[in-house]
Amino acid sequence: MDSARGWFQKFQARGEKFKAGPAKKKDMENGRDPSKPPVDEAPSNITKQKVAAAKQFIENHYKAQMKSLQDRKERRWILERKLADAEVSEEEQHNLLKYLEKKETEYMRLQRHKMGVDDFELLTIIGRGAFGEVRLCREKTTGHVYAMKKLKKSEMLRRGQVEHVKAERNLLAEVDSPCIVKLYCSFQDDEFLYLIMEYLPGGDMMTLLMRKDTLTEDEARFYVAQTVLAIESIHKHNYIHRDIKPDNLLLDRNGHMKLSDFGLCKPLDCSSFPNLSENDVALGKNYKSSLESDKRLNSSSAPRRTQQEQLLHWQKNRRMLAYSTVGTPDYIAPEVLLKKGYGMECDWWSLGAIMYEMLVGYPPFYSEDPMSTCRKIVNWRTHLKFPEEAKLSAEAKDVVCKLLCNVEQRLGTKGAHEIKCEPPKSKLDPVKFFGQE
Ligand code: ADP
Ligand code: MG
Repeated sequence: MDSARGWFQKFQARGEKFKAGPAKKKDMENGRDPSKPPVDEAPSNITKQKVAAAKQFIENHYKAQMKSLQDRKERRWILERKLADAEVSEEEQHNLLKYLEKKETEYMRLQRHKMGVDDFELLTIIGRGAFGEVRLCREKTTGHVYAMKKLKKSEMLRRGQVEHVKAERNLLAEVDSPCIVKLYCSFQDDEFLYLIMEYLPGGDMMTLLMRKDTLTEDEARFYVAQTVLAIESIHKHNYIHRDIKPDNLLLDRNGHMKLSDFGLCKPLDCSSFPNLSENDVALGKNYKSSLESDKRLNSSSAPRRTQQEQLLHWQKNRRMLAYSTVGTPDYIAPEVLLKKGYGMECDWWSLGAIMYEMLVGYPPFYSEDPMSTCRKIVNWRTHLKFPEEAKLSAEAKDVVCKLLCNVEQRLGTKGAHEIKCEPPKSKLDPVKFFGQE
């Protein structure tokens, strides 16, 4: 607060100088007699607004500073309490407290330093996003390697996504979970917003699935369990991902999976897909072409594609769908497509669709074109089928069916524990894999 007082004093001193000097000169120019007292002119509205904005800014600045000081004191107090309870030797206590202070100072220094794109050496491009590219980069001072996601501001503005992107960025910075890709910092220049994230060198789940066709149930169980933990951790922060799909599941150097790309934000822009209603879909009223393609898939005159044929077809289209501006609707829950209002449950539906794809090779409602896929999703009761050739166990089918169903019956609706406890208990229990909770 001392610095605040100092700042105000300087400000006042400068104000005095101005009264005595330039004001007089201006009065002369305006043809006023400087020896007579100045007429009291009311400040204009713009001036008033500027004053209010400056006041707000200064108040916020010092409020934030006080808060961070308070937080720092609190962190020290918590550590002291923990150390006292933990029966640690006095010397060790001293060292740990000194270590905390050192970290706090480093943190303050980092906060003062405004990061910018010049702080990084740009390396190879590792992915393309809806608003720009994702690059490998190295921080010049530390040599640490990160993934830099670059979002074109004009594009975000054009699609009305600015507020959304800001909210997502805040969430990403807030959630600290081993199953969520970490965001280290973000900054901007005139043209781009930059997100500096941890780099996950294992590629994404979409690529893994394309390479392997299908996973064994054991492998699928491992990734499904990790996805459950990731979804749970964002739901705990009252956040819905809404765009969970294999391209957004990234693998780290040890093969562990993390959720990324918090709605930054193509397929969830459901305006990309027309308004659907269950009746439209069931009757096929307005969607002649897709009805025909459905017929081709289902009628007895044209033989149904085998699992292998469907898999090849899917793989041929997959990357194109992933990079299209609309994105793939394959993992979107019916209530989201129907724009009925939806909640966190929609993420559990996506998990069901991904689990199905892991075991069968393509997602459950895959169709020639995205519109037919949307129609199959909202009409899931008639379209959810498991090909014989995929040889899924009864348990795996059961879990998929309990995820790809009505919101009321859907596993996870009352919390992630419903999925973790799903019998046979040991099979989907993430605790078994990670020893967490
Ligand atoms: P979009 O919003 O367009 O879907 P993403 O954030 O999903 O953008 O990034 C696009 C691709 O870039 C991902 O599918 C992935 O292959 C790659 N990528 C994104 N973030 C990372 C990261 N932190 N580490 C490694 N690769 C990444
Ligand atoms: Mg993505």
